[in-house]
Amino acid sequence: MNKAEAQMHLRAAAAAGQGKSCGAKNKYGTEKAAQIAAFRRNRHPSRQVPGAVMQEPYPCPFCDRWHVGDAMTKTERKRWSRP
Ligand SMILES: [Zn+2]
Repeated sequence: MNKAEAQMHLRAAAAAGQGKSCGAKNKYGTEKAAQIAAFRRNRHPSRQVPGAVMQEPYPCPFCDRWHVGDAMTKTERKRWSRP
């Protein structure tokens, strides 16, 4: 993930709050580990249907590790692409 993408995720996660974007979520020490977890979740049959929301890794502004969550929409990405 490039720096701009990471910054975008950090802004969105900070705005969503610790409870929602960190809290009880699984924590991954590296981006690679979170990518693998997201890849595995995205293989689940429940996501192999039209319109299913995919999962994606993101860096966490609260614990400095990585989590996996619902992929952001284009609109959300645009919203958080700038401070
Ligand atoms: Zn966290």
